[in-house]
Amino acid sequence: MVRNPWPSGSGPCIPSAFPSSMETGVRPRLLYASASIGVMAFLVVAAVAITTFVSNAREHIGADHLSFAGELVRAQQGGRELRRTTEHLVDHPSAAHQQQLLQTLWILNTRRESIKRYLERSHLDPDDYHHVEEEFASLEPQLARFEALVQRSLSNDQARTALEELAATIDNSQAFAYSELYQLVLEASAERQRRMTWLNRLIVALSLGVLVVVVGLIIAIVKIIGQRATMHQLSHTDDLTGLANRRALMQQAEQGMSLAARQHHPYSLALIDIDHFKLVNDRHGHPVGDRILQHVAATLTELIRQTDRLARVGGEEFCLLMPDTDAQGAKRLCERLRYGIATMVIPDQSANIQLTISIGTACCQSHSAAQFSRLYSEADQALYLAKREGRNRVEIAQWSGSLDT
Ligand code: GH3
Ligand code: MG
Ligand code: MG
Repeated sequence: MVRNPWPSGSGPCIPSAFPSSMETGVRPRLLYASASIGVMAFLVVAAVAITTFVSNAREHIGADHLSFAGELVRAQQGGRELRRTTEHLVDHPSAAHQQQLLQTLWILNTRRESIKRYLERSHLDPDDYHHVEEEFASLEPQLARFEALVQRSLSNDQARTALEELAATIDNSQAFAYSELYQLVLEASAERQRRMTWLNRLIVALSLGVLVVVVGLIIAIVKIIGQRATMHQLSHTDDLTGLANRRALMQQAEQGMSLAARQHHPYSLALIDIDHFKLVNDRHGHPVGDRILQHVAATLTELIRQTDRLARVGGEEFCLLMPDTDAQGAKRLCERLRYGIATMVIPDQSANIQLTISIGTACCQSHSAAQFSRLYSEADQALYLAKREGRNRVEIAQWSGSLDT
């Protein structure tokens, strides 16, 4: 006899031994998934940010050194230009050549000021270019003297001779200062390049690390979700037959009955118990009994409809949920099951084992989720009647399906 795991006197509450879907780890899974997605998003953003920063920094530093070096080359040419225009003035003293020389001198001064500004921004070590600053300082009085000589150059032959010598001195002094600076800039640029190369390698390694972490996280999440699905499957499946177990039956009944109640559809339940199964075990042994249970489960599964749900709820006891099925429909289906088992041929069995089943069924027309234990209890009583009346039969509970009967 099937013992009712949901006694009718236990009230409308669903027993806590059969947790609802809300208690099966849905929330922690969501939390894990959200946390993992958050970490992955953070890592990806970090990798993109670092890479963008470094590539921008490299372009900026490269451009800085490049333009400083270009400015130094142009400034160095200024000294040669000064010598050339001075020669023009000495060879052909004229107001036009005088003007040209003054302009060259102005450009030369402008470039020197520009170089000083570059130096301030360059992050070069001031100790390294201190001697260049001294050279610039020593140039100042010479340039002032040069300008004064240019002003007198048209009327004074000696001034023109002195101009040539001074232009050469200024050119040499500038050439020394600028080539020293050029060397410093080249060294600094090479040093930066070396650092950038290392930084780049570090970034690539970091990005690879981030990638590995992300891939690892994804694999871990997929594994966890897979394991949870397997655990969920195992905790809802009967080992021997592969049918749903009590826990799964409870959840399916809960959902099915509340849907039926909303739609005002009938809902039936049947309890199926193999007759005299103890004898089968005693005669043929437990392993044969196990195989027979598997075969019964497979036969019942073949005979029910797709919308029906079959579960193994005890040793040789099964429960069938029949949505959208009234009492007559349930009776017809259960008779089909009874006949199917009575005529079932068990393969690979030397002994010709004949089995029968007894079925108790109950149906409710007016439903609520709270009535499941009552429905089960009514079916159990009908099963008891079927056993008492001689077994191998189907009995329908005389219950209208409402709470007050
Ligand atoms: P009844 O017609 O009154 O139901 O008689 P019965 O022998 O089927 O019922 P009873 O409750 O006396 O015995 C049930 C038997 O089912 C006892 C047990 O050996 C057997 N059984 C329960 N679970 C398993 C199982 O997993 N494998 C096997 N082989 N037998 C099982
Ligand atoms: Mg039994
Ligand atoms: Mg039995």
